[in-house]
Amino acid sequence: MDKSEFRDWTHRAGDWSADYLETISERPIRPNLQPGDIGRLFADSPPENPETMEAIFADFERIIPDGMTHWQHPRFFAYFPANAAPAAIIAEQLAGTMAAQCMLWQTSPAATELEVKMIDWLRQAVGLPAGFSGTLQDTASSATLCAILTMRERALGWTGNQTGLAGRQTMRVYASTGTHSSIDKAMWIAGLGQDNLVKIPTDGDQALDIDALRVAIRADREAGFLPAGLVISVGGTSVGATDHVDALCDLSRAENLYSHVDAAWAGAAMICPEFRPLWQGVEKADSIVFNPHKWLGAPMECSAHFVRDPAALVRTLAAQPEYLKTHGKEGFVNFSEWSLQLGRRFRALKVWFLLRAYGLEGLRTMIRNHVAWSQTLADRLAAEPDFEIVTPPFLSLFSFRHRPAGFSGDLDAHNLAVLEAINDDGCIYLTQTLHDGKLVIRFVAGQFGMAERDMDIAFDTIRRIARAV
Ligand SMILES: *Cc1c(COP(=O)(O)O)cnc(C)c1O
Repeated sequence: MDKSEFRDWTHRAGDWSADYLETISERPIRPNLQPGDIGRLFADSPPENPETMEAIFADFERIIPDGMTHWQHPRFFAYFPANAAPAAIIAEQLAGTMAAQCMLWQTSPAATELEVKMIDWLRQAVGLPAGFSGTLQDTASSATLCAILTMRERALGWTGNQTGLAGRQTMRVYASTGTHSSIDKAMWIAGLGQDNLVKIPTDGDQALDIDALRVAIRADREAGFLPAGLVISVGGTSVGATDHVDALCDLSRAENLYSHVDAAWAGAAMICPEFRPLWQGVEKADSIVFNPHKWLGAPMECSAHFVRDPAALVRTLAAQPEYLKTHGKEGFVNFSEWSLQLGRRFRALKVWFLLRAYGLEGLRTMIRNHVAWSQTLADRLAAEPDFEIVTPPFLSLFSFRHRPAGFSGDLDAHNLAVLEAINDDGCIYLTQTLHDGKLVIRFVAGQFGMAERDMDIAFDTIRRIARAV
């Protein structure tokens, strides 16, 4: 592709993107496909000779969009949101154009210095005190793995990377049963083992039972285990499980544990001061993660990882072979020493564009609307004789069941059938979870482009289809 062709295709891709966003609500949210349906449309082997952009782009338009789930559809109420705000999409294109490689200050001075600033903007935005620094990781899974590795190294006096774990005291990490599966996975990868993630039951409010945690830590110490860390959940994925952050951070310090707060989804809401009581005490945590790539509008991947003591993270993750040394320029941060990857994308650019294009007030209005509209929808469903709210709204997430009067069959099977019928209909998209052993339907509002009328459509669709199943 020569340079003039690049200019033309960039314009065409821009037009395609604008058209896509303008007409997204006309598409089915989730394609009606079987696994393999799309794969067989691609060539089996790479071409020996160049193909034209006309041919490549025509295949893109023919195959890809109709084979995607459209996360920015205004009636996507499933999982947690993934928003790509238009201003941030433009930043992604610019960062890609520069082939930015942001592993060291020297390889990307502007990207590194902007990342320092953007982490500090995000810190202020969610109300964390000065003194926290951090980095933009790809995902919360990576940030949590970095935190678990830090717990491990800290507990071992910073010797685990060197000597390995064989023959060492078995370490323990604590979390509630409501925490995300990325904690389990981090335990596997860090070599600590699933069995050493001690899952503490939750109380009636979905919060970790602190007395049970105390008992578990004491019993572990008596049994010769080495307690290393605690993962605190704020806005768990299933039904929003949220721990008592303040008391847990105090306990964590008293027990000499490293504390990590997983607020991957809910952290975005902390740009609104009125929601901050939900994570009261968070300033006492050792590390905190939240994903601007969920609710806030940064395109995938963008996870803000705040740390109180960056030296602990760097001690855990910095590898400094000669070929990565930047002699005479060591005075500034090298973010590859704060993360798993060496090569890193330029994530700060999209955060900069995003925060400037919307302003915190613009983003707050969006989040407040989503929370208020979800509350209204939950109230409207609760007022219907055949619906029950199982978990009340936590921010914009709640769960419900359809329970027709006099129904004597299997309610789980019925609600799964309702969910499938709603999703096959294609007007709205919801997902399910298990809560207290019961299958429940989750509802989350969070799309950048949604309006209050989309909630009315959701209400009508849920009622109409549930009653027809
Ligand atoms: C989404 C989510 C994660 C995982 O986030 P990734 O960025 O996809 O790794 C972890 N914890 C919670 C509570 C989440 O909602």
